[in-house]
Amino acid sequence: MNLPLIIRAEEHNEKTAIATTDEAFTYRDLLHTSSQIATGLLKNVEDLQEQRVAFLIPPGFEYVATQWGIWRAGGIAVPLCISHPRPELEYVITNCGASIIVAHPNFESILRSLANEQNLRFILTSETLPSNVGRLPEVDITRRALILYTSGTTGKPKGVVTTHQNIQAQVTSLITAWEWTSSDRILHILPLHHIHGIVNILTCALWAGAECHMLSFDAKTVWNRICQGDLTLFMAVPTIYVKLIAAWETASKQSQKSMSEGCAKMRLMVSGSAALPVEVLEKWQTISGHFLLERYGMTEIGMALSNPLHGERRSGYVGKPLPDVEVRLVNESRQLVPAGTPGEIQVKGPGVFLEYWQNPQATAKAFQDGWFCTGDIAVVENGNYRILGRMSVDIIKTGGYKVSALEIEEVLRSHPDIQECAVVGVADIEWGERVCAALVLQRSQSLTLESFRSWAKERLAVYKVPTQILTVEELPRNAMGKVIKPTVVELFRS
Ligand code: AMP
Repeated sequence: MNLPLIIRAEEHNEKTAIATTDEAFTYRDLLHTSSQIATGLLKNVEDLQEQRVAFLIPPGFEYVATQWGIWRAGGIAVPLCISHPRPELEYVITNCGASIIVAHPNFESILRSLANEQNLRFILTSETLPSNVGRLPEVDITRRALILYTSGTTGKPKGVVTTHQNIQAQVTSLITAWEWTSSDRILHILPLHHIHGIVNILTCALWAGAECHMLSFDAKTVWNRICQGDLTLFMAVPTIYVKLIAAWETASKQSQKSMSEGCAKMRLMVSGSAALPVEVLEKWQTISGHFLLERYGMTEIGMALSNPLHGERRSGYVGKPLPDVEVRLVNESRQLVPAGTPGEIQVKGPGVFLEYWQNPQATAKAFQDGWFCTGDIAVVENGNYRILGRMSVDIIKTGGYKVSALEIEEVLRSHPDIQECAVVGVADIEWGERVCAALVLQRSQSLTLESFRSWAKERLAVYKVPTQILTVEELPRNAMGKVIKPTVVELFRS
């Protein structure tokens, strides 16, 4: 049996699946090219048997065909981030134990040497695909499909492994809740190494037989695309909405009118991956006429809570559990809390991930009696969940990306002029939180923000690089010597 995603695509053969600014590809194209890619990946074996295939391809048809090709060959897809510097890419490739790297020619210079050093098979997307499609393996849905890297409260990012079945459950839950159909046409502007872009947008669209229009984000380009008036769905993180609002505000009255009209043609606009500030929701409503549907989810669990498609959406709330998702709140002693009392969100259901890649200890620690412990705190009021914050100050959400303060600190400590440092998230309307670093410098050293940032960008993903630094004599510490992060946050606020 083929994977259900593939079988479903066969029903939509002549329909457009993926479109970019200047090209459109049908489901037939996607099925054919992905089978050629799968054949090429298999070479002389019958099944990749969950070998990890890391791929670095900009948004577009090649990305999707490669992802499907890996799945159809029985491999695990490991999408890499196009804006990551070499050390971050190297970490993911090494950690997942990739045996093959597929790269767009734009990334050849950075990845070929890495593949050579590690003796990995290296394939460029520009290479000619096999003209004869070989026999492809049967891939059971219980097999591992995807590894997405996510930052946690300890050390380096962990690989979140989901099976085809997990992804299917995540997708069908959203398809039911938000009533996706093959008539939908969604604009995709989010990163393709994160669950929001891969599952909620791309895979939902392809499961539904809908059209997925891909663009790299730029506020003006996105508005131009919306103005065409043919989209039915849009999903983004709060930071994107803030940027779109800013662009709308500087546009001419006439442009504003057509931007608003383009939004009005859509049936649903969604926000998630970070808290949506009420003022952003309200401003967006005046611009677009849409009361944004806010939902809550996580790489490990897919989407868990959502405001309703029909019926009242409440600002500041993330609604109720999605279909096939169980949610509960527990206190510090891991007991269920009574209604109206804050507690940690725990989640259970078929969409919950299988494991952290080759990290059984972390996997075991993340569950309590089969419930995944999210580390997020919420309260239920009138049946709706409201997110109150996170249990760890060391998790920062910036522009929808989850980053670890500890991971950043570890890298900053390797700077020759930095003696000690503390990284914190400081509340910010545009970014949700801004990554800020308090630094104790080596004697008689000084550091400009510019030189600091360019040093850090070579080692860390750009969204992890602190946007503000403060040089201090010493870090505020408690009696145990632990840095008092809330005091560090105050330093930046003042
Ligand atoms: P990620 O795994 O990168 O998607 O990050 C998941 C985390 O994002 C969650 O654990 C929450 O802390 C945060 N998050 C996602 N959606 C929301 C939301 N609607 N409101 C507040 N925080 C959110």
